[in-house]
Parts: sequence; C-alpha cells; structure tokens
Amino acid sequence: MTTATHTNQTRAHSLAHLNVLISGASVAGPALALWLSRYGARVTVLEKAPALREGGFAVDFRGDVHRTVLQRMGIWDEVHRRQTHMGRQTIVEADDKERVDLPAFLMSGDVEIFRGDLSTILYEGTRDHVEYVFGDSIASLTEDSEGIDVTFDHGAPRRFDLVVGADGLHSNTRRLVFGDEAPYLRFLGYYVAGFRIPNHLGLDRTARIYSEPGRTLMISNYDGDPERAGAALIFGSERLDYDRHDTAGQKRILAQTFAGLGWTHAARALEGLESAEELYFDAIAQIHVDRLSKGRVVLLGDAGYGATMGGMGTGTALVGAYVLAGELAAARGDHRAGFAAYEAEIRDYAKGCQKISGNAGPFLAPPSEKKIRSRDRVYRLLGSRLLAGFFKRLTEKAASDLALKEYALEPSGAYASLNRQP
Ligand SMILES: Cc1cc2nc3c(=O)[nH]c(=O)nc-3n(C[C@H](O)[C@H](O)[C@H](O)COP(=O)(O)OP(=O)(O)OC[C@H]3O[C@@H](n4cnc5c(N)ncnc54)[C@H](O)[C@@H]3O)c2cc1C
Repeated sequence: MTTATHTNQTRAHSLAHLNVLISGASVAGPALALWLSRYGARVTVLEKAPALREGGFAVDFRGDVHRTVLQRMGIWDEVHRRQTHMGRQTIVEADDKERVDLPAFLMSGDVEIFRGDLSTILYEGTRDHVEYVFGDSIASLTEDSEGIDVTFDHGAPRRFDLVVGADGLHSNTRRLVFGDEAPYLRFLGYYVAGFRIPNHLGLDRTARIYSEPGRTLMISNYDGDPERAGAALIFGSERLDYDRHDTAGQKRILAQTFAGLGWTHAARALEGLESAEELYFDAIAQIHVDRLSKGRVVLLGDAGYGATMGGMGTGTALVGAYVLAGELAAARGDHRAGFAAYEAEIRDYAKGCQKISGNAGPFLAPPSEKKIRSRDRVYRLLGSRLLAGFFKRLTEKAASDLALKEYALEPSGAYASLNRQP
C-alpha cells in the first residue's frame, strides 16, 4: 500500500487558455472548479437545481489521502469547523435494548460533514473566480476539432474547450455522451430511503439502528437539533420498477416493505414517512464505465465511479477533482493526454473504494436473523478497545491506497503559490 506521505512531484502549467464547463454543483463540480481556477482556467459550473442544494446525507473523510487533498485545497479547517461531531451509533433490539455500539469512525470516518455544508464551503470558496449558473441543464453537445458546442434547456448556446460531467450517479452528461445509464449502473440488491422526522427519541448526535432480516430502520440526529431527526430505511430487494419522480409511489413501496417492523419506535417513524415533504429514494448501486472520457468530455465523481453509500464517494470525488485538474495542468491543457493520465491515476483507486461499498447493503440490512447476529458479534469484537486501532486502519485502507502526486505550478515551481485559501 502506498500513501500520500510519499512525495511525487509533477510539473504543472497554466491553464489560462482553457474554457471549461462543469455540469453539477455538489461536491465534485465545485472541487474541480476550485483547482481549475487556481491553474488559471475560465470555469463555468452549471447546476440543474435552482440554487445550491443544501442538506443531504452526512459524508465523511478518512485516511491520509483524503486529509492531504483537503489540506491542499485549503478547506481542512473549515470542514472541521462545520463537522457533525456525530457520536455513537447503537444497534438495538425490538424493545430498544442496546445490543452493540458501533465505533464512530466506522460510519463517520475521521471527519464528517453534511454534503450540503461541504458544497457551501466549496461554492463560497470559488464563486469569486468561477461562473455559476443555476436552474439549467445541458441539452446537447457537439464536438469538433477545436472545441465543443453546448446547448442548454434554457440558456443561450455556448462554446467551450472541455465539458466535465460531475452531475452524479444518474449523470445527464454521461447519458448524452456515453448513452443510456442501464449498462453502467450496477444494482447491488438493496434500496435506501431517507427523510426527516420529529426527534421523538431525543437523540443528540447519536443514532439507533434496528434490523430484521432484509430490512433496517435507522434513526439519527447528526446536528444536535432537538426538534428534528433523520430516518433511513434500507432493504434488500429484487430490482423494482418505479417512477423516480413519483414520491407518493415511493412512499407506498416503503410503507408496504416496512409494515409490521417490530421495533418499538418503528410505527412513529413510519408515520413521519407519510408526512415527509422530501424523500430520498434510490437503489444502492455503482457506476462502472469502460472509459472516463470521450473526446472533450470527461466524467468525475459519482458520474464516473459512484457507489451510493459505503464507498467513500465524497472523498473519491475530491481526490478525482484534484487529480483531473493536476493532470490537465501537467499536460498543458492537452485534454487527450490529461484525461488519459487522470484515468490511469484514479481508476484502480476508485474501484478499490467501490469494492468496499458492496458491503454496505448486507452490513446495514443482513438477509437473515443468523446474519444479523453474526454482524453484531463481529462488530462488537472489532469495536473493542483491543482491536479498534486495527479495525480503523482496515476502514481506511482503500481510501489511502494512492500515491498522490504533488502538482507544482510552473514557472514558480512552488506548490505553495497554488495553495491559496478559498
Ligand atoms: C444514502 C447515501 C449515503 C451516503 N453516505 C456517504 C458517506 O457516508 N460518505 C461518503 O463519502 N459519501 C456518501 N454518499 C455518497 C456521496 O453523497 C457522493 O459520493 C457524493 O455526493 C458525490 O458527489 P458528486 O458531486 O459526484 O455527485 P452528487 O453529490 O450526486 O452531485 C451531483 C450534482 O449534479 C446536479 N445535477 C444532476 N443532474 C444535473 C443536470 N442535468 N445538469 C446539471 N446539474 C445536474 C445535482 O443536482 C447535484 O447537485 C452517500 C450517498 C447516499 C445516497
């Protein structure tokens, strides 16, 4: 295993001649915008939502490589300032008796933050140097030898040198350039749903997890809000045929699947499902593409190697943004060389992290009572003081498995000159 502690310097050059469009303003998009603008490129970030999306799940960073990238981005302190400080997450019996405390690092890594807070940090750090366009989406892409013509659902057509798809697991850019998502989306046999409920349990930065074979309800409070909590439903299933935009239909699927759940707090949480204004509902799935780029278009973050949950997708998106910008700068903006080098650097790393995410469904919602018991025994043991250090290193292994290059900007050659705080 190699880690970020090995210095691996690569010469980087100005990208002042490049005009880049990035689709998606969540994590990967603004992170790439930060790096490209530091290298001098003109950057436009396009977001379908009418404004920066707040909220979202808590996401975490773990190990050396994530830490080094956050530090080089200059957001390490701000991420810590806004971290969740999530505490213990406890697996309980039907009568709410506590069975196992999961160590905080298992779910929350070294530092955990709401995805929306991370987006805000990145947006606020880049908006003075980067153009953000909200409430629009790419309608078509037409490439020639000199550039790429882009039309939008609403705005006037524009021309760019490069287009980056950082628009998530169900990427619109990927669909336009690589085709329908079906061949790229690997369904892992589980679904996950999330919604807000009143904080009936009085949780304060803790969570309670209850499992029956193939289905789990998790109630958590990440932010210390005495009024509100989050509920997550995870269940094993064949692939379901449902409308991604029909929230009422998704609520019906969840209500049927979780009817009769034996936990003493289940009925109230499921009442909250009925009245929830916002619902996240999706398959636990991974994205596997043959190539991350085609011509002048490249995929970044979940769009190129997403893993839904358990695969450290946020850290991988930040590492991917760092590497993509760095390799483009190393290649003096030659997209063929830069994209190829990005892919060579990031592909195995992302695959290693995706592999871990394959465990998320079976860990959260084991398929039988026997497997629930064996999960709980294993995690009780691994969480014990004796094994906790070993267990923590194990949870960081995939995220740390990259010899991170340091891209030193020419002509100054000094990396530090790049590292201005956003
Ligand atoms: C239930 C759940 C739990 C998770 N837990 C963790 C965790 O604990 N740790 C972790 O590291 N990661 C976690 N993740 C994964 C993490 O959220 C993603 O890996 C991360 O957000 C990837 O960032 P991204 O910018 O690539 O994509 P996204 O965050 O998906 O952002 C894509 C952006 O593109 C925008 N967009 C979509 N379509 C268009 C379009 N047509 N035009 C323009 N913009 C568009 C979207 O509105 C969005 O803003 C979790 C995910 C889920 C679903």
